[in-house]
Amino acid sequence: MSVYHDEIEIEDFDFDEDTELYTYPCPCGDRFQISKEDLASGEDTATCPSCSLIVKVIYNIEDFAEYEEDCVVATKEKQLVKN
Ligand SMILES: [Zn+2]
Repeated sequence: MSVYHDEIEIEDFDFDEDTELYTYPCPCGDRFQISKEDLASGEDTATCPSCSLIVKVIYNIEDFAEYEEDCVVATKEKQLVKN
């Protein structure tokens, strides 16, 4: 099981349009990052490339659904199987 360092709202992340990455400062001095594509596919864990900390991203998947609709459907089906 994953242990999140923190839970951060997507609004608090910075978005880099060149890399399409959302980033947020990590205590180690680097930045947590998660891509728009990850978010669209239901991924909500942002990772830091320089340490082992992870944060949970609080966001509404429907805001990203248009970006990659097929992935979102696949994720929902997976969740149905789990439940
Ligand atoms: Zn870090």
